[in-house]
Amino acid sequence: MGAYAKNVRDTAKSFWEGMSITLSYMFRKPITTQYPDRVGVPVRDTIPARYRGFLEVDMDICTACLACERACPIAVINIDVVKGDGKTRPKLNMERFDIDIGKCMYCGLCVEPCPTGAIQHTREFEGAVMHFDNLTLRFVPDPTNPIPAYKVPKGSDAFPRRPLGEITRKLIKAWDAPPPPFPSMEEAAKAKEHGAPKEGGLDPSAMGRQLAAKALSVKEDKPKLQKVLEEAMAGTDCGDCGYPDCFGYSNAIAQGKDTATDKCAPGGADSKAMLETILVTLKTGAVPAPATPAAGAVPAPATPAAAASPAPPAEAKPEAPAAPEAPASPPPAQDEIPLGTKPPPK
Ligand code: SF4
Ligand code: SF4
Repeated sequence: MGAYAKNVRDTAKSFWEGMSITLSYMFRKPITTQYPDRVGVPVRDTIPARYRGFLEVDMDICTACLACERACPIAVINIDVVKGDGKTRPKLNMERFDIDIGKCMYCGLCVEPCPTGAIQHTREFEGAVMHFDNLTLRFVPDPTNPIPAYKVPKGSDAFPRRPLGEITRKLIKAWDAPPPPFPSMEEAAKAKEHGAPKEGGLDPSAMGRQLAAKALSVKEDKPKLQKVLEEAMAGTDCGDCGYPDCFGYSNAIAQGKDTATDKCAPGGADSKAMLETILVTLKTGAVPAPATPAAGAVPAPATPAAAASPAPPAEAKPEAPAAPEAPASPPPAQDEIPLGTKPPPK
């Protein structure tokens, strides 16, 4: 009986202990946060500075080195670079810099190799949208108005950057923003071509020969030769070549310490071809002649015999009745007979 009474007393005591804690909350100030509309401070300002939220690119200090695009393991970043000659048009121009934040896994691998800190994670995370296409942040708003790449001043190691998050906040659309217009056939075809080499204002073979002639004239002057070689590189000083900057790589080639021509990743095939032309010229002492189109590629002019022979008999039929009556008048050339001529109805 004594044990039974003790159990009842313990139960009542523990029940009251639990309930007293619960009841005490009725008299405390509630701490529930009415997210997102009734918070005193924006939530992003309360999270740690090293949080990996949406990516942001400050195009003012982006060198178009493509290091971030290459580093991304799942192809979230898409950059289209158009090359210029460096005189009438900047050497590198970006006509597209897209980041698909719906696909990004926020690993930060793209941020690490950026030489200027242009691409960084922000503390932005609120990006619910109704349409997938609104999840692509476009840092070049108008592809017809490309953004020139930033040229890093020699020796600088700090780069002014816009406040982190400012650019991305403007690019994130309201959750119910309408989707981008349905792409036209031309736009869809252009999207398919993404990643293919671009036609630009630069003719790499002509420029390579130009630089080769310059290099030949300063062959013995290594500092001048280095400058010519550097012109063939992208000039982003990204360090992808294994040297600290473009100067290091071009100087190594000028000094004969390096003969590899394919180390300038941002310059790509154009840089490689130009460097090869220069090195071949330095070796042979003569600038290679421009390539001429193959003779077989030019269509042979049509001769009367040749014109007559391929004529399909079916297409000649409509002209046949008129021919015997007017032998003196020049018959229509076979290749002028409209290909779309329909045979007479039977
Ligand atoms: S954070 Fe990772 S997944 Fe996202 S873009 Fe950068 S490298 Fe790619
Ligand atoms: S400068 Fe930075 S953001 Fe610009 S292409 Fe290079 S790695 Fe990417």
